[in-house]
Amino acid sequence: MLFAAAALLLTPMAWDHLTAGASQGEPPLTQDSLEIGPSPSPTAEEVTKSPMPPPPSVPVPEPLVTSISISAIGDCTLGSGIGFAHQGSIGDYYDRFGPEYFFQGVTEVLSTDDLTIANLEGPLTQQGEPTPKTFNFRAPAEYVEIVKLGGVEAVTLANNHSMDYGEIGFQDTQATLDQAGITHFGFDDLAVVEVKGIRIGLLGDLGWDNTEETRSSLAQRLQELDADIKIVSFHWGIEGEHTQNAAQVSLAHFAIDSGADLVLGHHPHVLQGVETYNGRLIAYSLGNFAFGGNQNPSDTDSMIFQVHFELTGSVVTGLDSQIIPVSISSIGHPNDYSPVVLDGAERDRVERKVLGSSTNYPV
Ligand SMILES: [Zn+2]
Repeated sequence: MLFAAAALLLTPMAWDHLTAGASQGEPPLTQDSLEIGPSPSPTAEEVTKSPMPPPPSVPVPEPLVTSISISAIGDCTLGSGIGFAHQGSIGDYYDRFGPEYFFQGVTEVLSTDDLTIANLEGPLTQQGEPTPKTFNFRAPAEYVEIVKLGGVEAVTLANNHSMDYGEIGFQDTQATLDQAGITHFGFDDLAVVEVKGIRIGLLGDLGWDNTEETRSSLAQRLQELDADIKIVSFHWGIEGEHTQNAAQVSLAHFAIDSGADLVLGHHPHVLQGVETYNGRLIAYSLGNFAFGGNQNPSDTDSMIFQVHFELTGSVVTGLDSQIIPVSISSIGHPNDYSPVVLDGAERDRVERKVLGSSTNYPV
């Protein structure tokens, strides 16, 4: 054993020596040494005596197969609205338990995947003036630790709350996320995250309408997105509706026809169905997740939608997925802002609910 190990260690030196010797023995090929004139045809005898050597076999490397697991979660609203009571609010829980409290029931799932994508619904800022609307959410910059410690690596800002405190609030949010090392995307801000050598492209937009303009802008950005896996995140649909509407279905299909591999939806605050379309996946609404916007929502059902991609080289050659049922509150009611993975009968109920609105899923 000792001898073999020593021989292996010596190999590089031996090779150096051999290579040097070989190059000394063979003069370099120059233009002069090439035979340019027509060569005489070989006789039959010559052919049999000296057959052509077989072409050198160049080993073709097997394309690398890579697995990528992506978890998608719904609305993360880390602050409260104007006029919300402090007691029982998400800020109250932050003050009492700190940032690591919120995602403790899901961190194991979200930190063992390759990428977690959330909808960050509300700015991280203490600047700006509330824009005129019904609900204005915001959270202090330090609350970014909630999602960071929870294993979230990317967030979309394309939703109807990211501008709740104007442009300055939006810019603060981007700067805070940059500082925390969390990728953000949305509107014209396309992002590409590289995991295990695979480029994952992220595009986020509002999907309220399904006009020609929306479609052509989407198709153009999908084409610009230089990535191996392309994900489109849509803020769309009707609040409280458990079934996706025709506009969502049409836009999701269009996104996939234009090159998307996965479409993720949110805004209805409740779960909607999942669909397999042309070998790609759509989750129409992921519901709420860590949601400071309501101290006691009637519907606490949510899910982690986990998608497993298989790539051969850089081409998607397979994908499957898993619905992981979640409650947004570990105590049910009221909201304690700490989502947990469900089990038993509750797990089955939430899964059945999603499957009840699903199309062609599971395949
Ligand atoms: Zn929304």
